[in-house]
Amino acid sequence: MILVFGGAGYIGSHTVKHLLDNGYECVVADNLIYGHREAVDKRAEFVHADLLNPVSIREVFKNRKIDAVIHFAAFTYVGESVSDPQKYYINNVVGTTNLLNVMLENGVKKIVFSSTCATYGEPQYTPIDEKHPQNPINPYGRTKLMIEQIFADYERAYGLKHIALRYFNAAGCAKDGSIGESHTPETHLIPLVLKAIKGEREKISVFGTDYDTPDGTCIRDYIHVEDLALAHRLAVEKLDEYSGCLNLGTGVGTSVKEIIDAAEKVSGKKCPVEYGPRRAGDPAKLYADNQKVKKILGWQPSYDNIEDIIRTAWNWELNRRF
Ligand code: UDP
Repeated sequence: MILVFGGAGYIGSHTVKHLLDNGYECVVADNLIYGHREAVDKRAEFVHADLLNPVSIREVFKNRKIDAVIHFAAFTYVGESVSDPQKYYINNVVGTTNLLNVMLENGVKKIVFSSTCATYGEPQYTPIDEKHPQNPINPYGRTKLMIEQIFADYERAYGLKHIALRYFNAAGCAKDGSIGESHTPETHLIPLVLKAIKGEREKISVFGTDYDTPDGTCIRDYIHVEDLALAHRLAVEKLDEYSGCLNLGTGVGTSVKEIIDAAEKVSGKKCPVEYGPRRAGDPAKLYADNQKVKKILGWQPSYDNIEDIIRTAWNWELNRRF
């Protein structure tokens, strides 16, 4: 049985669905602060638990044969991590060590973890490979880097097998429309653009038009959430033979303007746009060198076109359940 901690969140819930579709048994643990109970597939068991409450973590392991853990439970708002770093260091770092303690108490030594390209900080070159120096520029990125380092120490000392997947920009929703992205507050580009198109928001503000990129707007690597989910399953299946950190992106960069154009095409409607100043801490270009994850996990993304990714998000936006 796989324990998915944070399995009621955006990427977690899509991974749970993928695991179940592929014959795995899952128990989902979540404190539901940001997660949605409705996002958890009915085929999975659900337990209310919090990483800052070790008693609740122990309850999850009690009387269950957990083979591996996939750990998504984290706070992820970069701006908030700057204004309230304590919240991030305690929840993300202390919370993860609490989870690892209980895993070791129970003899569970396999974990797949949500890391991030934010651990690299300002890129020195693109595409970014795993050897790129890691100098995160905000507390959120630092919490994720610290956890990667804790894993390496725990492997040496206790034999903890771990794969940290360094996500680029997660995007899109389940193809069948059953689950999707729902953050409060929403800060991500694609859902905000779609809400502006729908009329739920007045407009989208484009953060900077003077970057050193072909159209002047920032370039990111948008990876479909179901391709992320697939990589988590493949990582679980690889933990007997491999520990380490892998980039998870498509390798293709898309600009903010290209996202807006694609969303207009998919929806058939105009997006009200305002061109504004840069947002602090945004590098011009971030996209992955994904050779390593392809080689180690045999992973191949099934979405290679931004319009197809946005179409799944638009479909969700029109019919969202939560
Ligand atoms: N962005 C924007 N307007 C918004 C939100 C985001 O122009 O309202 C830009 C942001 O500057 C970045 C890209 O869209 O270049 C993706 O931002 P997002 O917050 O979705 O993800 P991030 O790359 O920050 O993890």
